[in-house]
Amino acid sequence: MIALDWMREGTAFFDAVSDCDLDRPSALPGWTRRHVVAHVAYNARALVRLLHWARTGEETPMYASREARDREIEEGAKDPALRELYATARDELTEAIRVTESWDALVVTAQGRTVPASEIPWMRTREVWIHAVDLGAGATFEQFPDALVDALIDDVIELRRRRDQSPALIVAPADRERRWRTGGPEPRTLTGSAVELAALLTGRASGPDLGRWL
Ligand code: ZN
Repeated sequence: MIALDWMREGTAFFDAVSDCDLDRPSALPGWTRRHVVAHVAYNARALVRLLHWARTGEETPMYASREARDREIEEGAKDPALRELYATARDELTEAIRVTESWDALVVTAQGRTVPASEIPWMRTREVWIHAVDLGAGATFEQFPDALVDALIDDVIELRRRRDQSPALIVAPADRERRWRTGGPEPRTLTGSAVELAALLTGRASGPDLGRWL
């Protein structure tokens, strides 16, 4: 699983970028950097629950509810021991991945998608890399590996196809041979570098309103 390598690399990236003043605002509206770190910590715990589900068959969803998810982020952001909370959750996820063998077992994500457990390292990959940028502490999509940038575009396009989401898109990065298409009438062609388009498609750059990703 290449995502396992990206997950490890992205975790190190997030750790390095989050070694900053956490009391400052993040790049996400309404969130300080502390909220971002709390969210990334609780996402690790949520994925530990999915891995438990995959290993045991006991249905342990990522979050009890959207409200519960938001509440724990607010509380975590205020926790004086936030860095320790994050590091513990991160290490618990590493351990849960180490002991998991049932990667074909099906689990249900917070978005309600049924996926094999093998998707979990990719779910974490997205979180650590993109939220490192969201910290607003200097990290950019330019620092992502090229193949990861492409995989992020794949992810967005696949979700849009599945939802039949409009507008239809043709993603045509100037620095790639490859073209991505979602299907649907009157497609809008997006041009720019692959990095710029990945940032736009994941809602991390200003530009045309393309609707939600996750
Ligand atoms: Zn997230």
